[in-house]
Amino acid sequence: MEKQRRIFIQKAGLIAAASAFTPQILLSSTKAQKKKLGVALVGLGYYSTDLLAPALQLTNNCELRGIVTGSPEKIPIWQEKYGIKDKNVYNYKNFDTIANNPDIDVVYVVLPPSMHAEYTIRAAKAGKHVWCEKPMAPSVADCEAMIKACKDNKVKLAIGYRCQHDPNIQAYMKVGKERPFGKVRMVTSAAGYFDGRTNHWKQNKKLGGGAMGDMGVYALQGARLATGEEPISVLAQASTTRPEVYHEVEETMMFQLEFPSGALASCQTSFGINMNHLQVNYEKGWLKMEPHSSYNGNNGSMSDGTIIKFSIPNQQAKQMDEDAMAIMDKTDLIVPGEEGLRDIRVVEAIYKSAAQNCVVKL
Ligand code: NAD
Repeated sequence: MEKQRRIFIQKAGLIAAASAFTPQILLSSTKAQKKKLGVALVGLGYYSTDLLAPALQLTNNCELRGIVTGSPEKIPIWQEKYGIKDKNVYNYKNFDTIANNPDIDVVYVVLPPSMHAEYTIRAAKAGKHVWCEKPMAPSVADCEAMIKACKDNKVKLAIGYRCQHDPNIQAYMKVGKERPFGKVRMVTSAAGYFDGRTNHWKQNKKLGGGAMGDMGVYALQGARLATGEEPISVLAQASTTRPEVYHEVEETMMFQLEFPSGALASCQTSFGINMNHLQVNYEKGWLKMEPHSSYNGNNGSMSDGTIIKFSIPNQQAKQMDEDAMAIMDKTDLIVPGEEGLRDIRVVEAIYKSAAQNCVVKL
């Protein structure tokens, strides 16, 4: 029985991995080769500079063609490094004229969360598809406005949840759906890191800071993706060990979730603690991942001995290639705006619970 189960999961994993890679190969060989999508990055901070721009160089379906920045000193550096044409360089004021630029198909919003809605809506109105970083926005109202703007302008909206493109994460999502160990009883999910900065938007409420929207969405996704369900109630507690830094937003958030099936989750996130693990206890077994939301090396094991350990060359490149392919083929995105909204609904309830010190029903 144990052996059968292991083979089943390994096969399932192979299917997941295969489906993640073969469509591109098949399509590129059977259809007339489509052009690559031109991507413009909005906001040239850490994530754009260190992760997305290098990953774009590894994609098959995308090309980094444009930049939108409020820092003129960054322009020559980016132009030289990535061969970006003068006509594809924008600032925050003239950004809307991107509507007239056929080089750019997709605008990727990589700004502080409070700016996600504005730039997503402006990009949609300019007729560009939008990729927007997590957390989607600070409020449900913002998320709904972003989804509406993209629908109204007939463009696609994807949220940058790179992990949902990772076959290691897809493997534990599959266990939640197919239930080889029965129902989920308890999820323990944590994601945090020590942030030593003292004057960054992550510590600023107005800009959308706070651990919950940042690493907290990974802790929350661990629970949502492992159960395949949406929580029906939350109980949360915010805290800080550095009140001189974290006085506007929480340094740490602990939250409990209850799901319709009766599954429970205990989740933690922090800007003061390095942690990244997920444990799922089912009726008849368990699954552990550590890490479960890193850029690379996500891996885990199950109570029947199955190991989850797929290697992928670059998570962000896979995310952007799959999102570009969905746009070109007019198929469903893996992580549409609606999925970003699902998280923010819970995040809002978590903040309400922490502020009012009570259980909040969803
Ligand atoms: P960052 O602070 O390094 O970069 C932010 C950029 O926004 C900078 O270029 C800054 O100049 C610009 N900016 C414009 N107006 C600003 C303002 N008023 N205040 C501050 N900055 C302003 O941040 P980052 O770490 O690159 O994060 C950007 C986005 O990417 C966030 O939504 C973050 O959550 C997300 N992110 C996602 C991942 C992931 O794994 N998916 C990883 C890191 C960051």
